[in-house]
Amino acid sequence: MNDTVTDFGLIDRVIAYRPEANVELIQRALRLSAEAHAGQRRASGVPYLKHPVEVAEILTQLRMDESTVVAALLHDTLEDTHFTREQIAAEFGEEIAWLVDGVTKIDKLRLVSREEAQAENFRKMLLSMARDIRVIIIKLADRLHNMRTLTPLSDEKRQRIATETQEIYAPIANRLGLGWIKVELEDLCLRYLKPELYFSLVKQVAAGKKVRDRYLDEVREIVEREIERVNIPAEVAGRSKHIYSIYQKMSDQNLELEQLYDLSGIRIITDTKMHCYALLGIIHSLWQPIPGKFKDYVALPKSNGYQSLHTTVVCERGNRVEFQIRTRDMHRVAEEGIAAHWKYKEGGPIDPSGDDAFRWLRQILEWQQQISDGKQFLDALKVDLFSDSVFPYTRNGELLEMPRGSTVLDFAFAIHTELGLGCVGASVDGKLVSPRHVLKSGQTVEILTSEDQRPVREWIGFLKTARARSAVKHWLKSEERRRTVDVGRKVLAREIRRQGHSPEQVLAGIDKALNALKVADEQALYSEVGYGKRSIGEVLAHLLPDSRVRPSFKERIMMRLGRRDGAVVITGEGVMVHLAGCCRPIPGDPIVGHVKRGRGLVVHVQDCAQLDQFDFDPELMVEVAWDEHPTCPTSVPVQVLTRDRTGILGKVSSAIADAKANISHAQIHTTEDRKASFNLILEVDHVRHLEKVIRAVEKLPDVLEMRRLRGN
Ligand code: MN
Repeated sequence: MNDTVTDFGLIDRVIAYRPEANVELIQRALRLSAEAHAGQRRASGVPYLKHPVEVAEILTQLRMDESTVVAALLHDTLEDTHFTREQIAAEFGEEIAWLVDGVTKIDKLRLVSREEAQAENFRKMLLSMARDIRVIIIKLADRLHNMRTLTPLSDEKRQRIATETQEIYAPIANRLGLGWIKVELEDLCLRYLKPELYFSLVKQVAAGKKVRDRYLDEVREIVEREIERVNIPAEVAGRSKHIYSIYQKMSDQNLELEQLYDLSGIRIITDTKMHCYALLGIIHSLWQPIPGKFKDYVALPKSNGYQSLHTTVVCERGNRVEFQIRTRDMHRVAEEGIAAHWKYKEGGPIDPSGDDAFRWLRQILEWQQQISDGKQFLDALKVDLFSDSVFPYTRNGELLEMPRGSTVLDFAFAIHTELGLGCVGASVDGKLVSPRHVLKSGQTVEILTSEDQRPVREWIGFLKTARARSAVKHWLKSEERRRTVDVGRKVLAREIRRQGHSPEQVLAGIDKALNALKVADEQALYSEVGYGKRSIGEVLAHLLPDSRVRPSFKERIMMRLGRRDGAVVITGEGVMVHLAGCCRPIPGDPIVGHVKRGRGLVVHVQDCAQLDQFDFDPELMVEVAWDEHPTCPTSVPVQVLTRDRTGILGKVSSAIADAKANISHAQIHTTEDRKASFNLILEVDHVRHLEKVIRAVEKLPDVLEMRRLRGN
């Protein structure tokens, strides 16, 4: 082994916050890592060893223990070298071997990929987090260093890594409260995903910085003078917003940079909670607060543990300034999140069940046990990863935490499924609102129900929480089954009567038909008839042997179309088959058929809102499925929303062409707020193709969003 390995100052850093640290262990890990990676270089040409050392250094900034630092030094040895887990366990013990192995396993997961695989990979990652949160903290440090050194890689790799970081790792850093890591990851993602936009923002922000700094100095002095008079210990400092949050604000509120007043603000750090509120009082007596901008995250912490008072005031010469006020401990949690908690629990992994900072993780793990469907789990997780929370109160004063954007109906389901199913609205702070009303923090919500209320498909469209959505879907499914059984029985009875027999007598002998058709029970048979899976003629042939049943309109149509497993196969539009204009299904959409006199078979998307409104006779509903190779190039209307910049249409259409889709029709509007919207009709061959096109277009700088349009 090479004894002259330099430690790049790493050991001094560890000793600075942990004087009792096992220095020899760190030195050994350095030597092994140097030996393992000897001769390897990173894409930039620097010796590979620099990477694990700098990852370890990031972890010293979080003041992690030496096991974590050592595991970081070794984190790439299993992947890229001949070293084995057993060797590491023998040399450094089982704990460190487990951490290294955990990070290696997460490395192998492709987190942005087909949804099912992605969901499965998420589960694996969450399980390793639950066993020892240090695995994910090391992984975040690894990813941060990789993002810092992304430039020499190929464009394709940069896009993949940056996308994965933006979709998964930055939100996880946020959820774990690792504030500064989240901020740096987000900025780096923007830099690689939308470079033009990023660098133009950097330039614009830098241009106004001197003026803003001088102004903030002036404000700071006024505040400091006031604080001195009341003798509260406090540090006052200016702070600037990071580029990504500026970008987010601009696109959320559709503003230009010049219209953002709070590119920077002031942060005050003090000693106690009481003093936070006292300082808030001072700020509000100096300048007038702007209504709706005051947020008390001290009394109501965010779910990642973040605490602070936020207020925006009209300051000197009418400029708006945002103040953040917090204690030193709160500040540490804001910057280091879970790592700040971790430090207080020396000697081993923390137990995810005990700590409030783990509320989020605990909830996810509960879901992963409850939800068997991978896709549903992923949806639930995404909602939770990406949305902040709101905190409405129940009538009894109980505080609920819900994802931002939750509606009255979500709230009702969060309390009890029955309450959700019967919800007709709510009284919110004494005002009557509809079930789709979006809730805010601090509102008191009293759910109103009616016995006549029945869930409708439309609800799924505005529900925010996974729990409410799946409750409504479940109800609709069982209701639909009940209805088809009913319809199946009625239709059979009607036909029997038409043939001159008594339905009661004939249906008493239904066992004959059940045996002949190999159907389990009466209910199942009625349901098959109701769904259109089985024709009336087929059933009656066994009940009335001498009957000559004239095929119904539906049966005649179905006889002329090909079938597979009881479903009519859709290859494309034709004389008998039409794709509904209201929802415009394309291959890959879940679909259902409706037989219509004079038109033939009309194919709708399963959750088409029209299906509820038409009041369809389920007797006319037909089970349909897409052919494996549909022949239709299918047209689908979409809308692209962009900033109004010259050449943007050209960029959008060439991105669409590059993704191998045609534009068959285009309409362009510009709006007064300097946005442009393109209504396009695209020819694509599958839902997956459309998704690819949308991803390609949304990657363009200046594109705000692209979405598929439904309805006419
Ligand atoms: Mn690495």
